Amino acid sequence: MTTSVTIASDVIDQVGLQKAAEFQSRITKFECVECGTAGDARQEPAVVVLRRSPGLSHLGVAHHRCADSQVREYGPGDLVLAGAVDLIPRVLGLPSPHGTRPALLLAYEEEVTVEEGDQPPYDPVVRHLVAEGLHHVPSLGKPAPRSAGWQAVIGPGTSVHVRSNTRVHLEDGDMYVPPAWRMLAEETGEVTLMMGRLEHSVLHSVTPPLAAYGRAIKMGHMVAGVVPIVLR
Ligand SMILES: [Zn+2]
Repeated sequence: MTTSVTIASDVIDQVGLQKAAEFQSRITKFECVECGTAGDARQEPAVVVLRRSPGLSHLGVAHHRCADSQVREYGPGDLVLAGAVDLIPRVLGLPSPHGTRPALLLAYEEEVTVEEGDQPPYDPVVRHLVAEGLHHVPSLGKPAPRSAGWQAVIGPGTSVHVRSNTRVHLEDGDMYVPPAWRMLAEETGEVTLMMGRLEHSVLHSVTPPLAAYGRAIKMGHMVAGVVPIVLR
């Protein structure tokens, strides 16, 4: 598969060589940040556009015919977060001294970071999740505290529904639930919900190593809470 994706040196300077190379190498289908229509870098030239405002930055892709690769500056508040983030659900078994704990992972791949003054950049989505009751936990091996007001519903079939007490996070997800995991969740009536962002390669891997989730937890890219689960 060959793709044609141009990335300007200004953009590389801003995001770093490694992230730029990784982002560039995995672009195939995209939604053009300029015209909003679909594109495919395997079929026509594409460019990387870094959009920045004081506070937010977002790495996106545009048709070559719509824009040059560039860093585009926006005024305060002109660049807003996408309302919805694509969440990919997955079930996990977490080892613990008292047997396997069932976990439900909702992960996304998001390029948005926020910078404020001299503070380290942070992920605004993760910050919202914490405000809604999920917790930063020190490691994957440590049980997460409960999160009030959240609920996960699995079924009928492969359907997944997750909500906090303020909003629905995943309306009609679709996920394979192994019978052994379902039994575990039925026994305890609760699961460890883990939400946050993952590297592209981990997010799309068929069986990522647990250590990859552990890294995301440690880095604060992923937060967790024990929530009640209903199985239909
Ligand atoms: Zn376009």
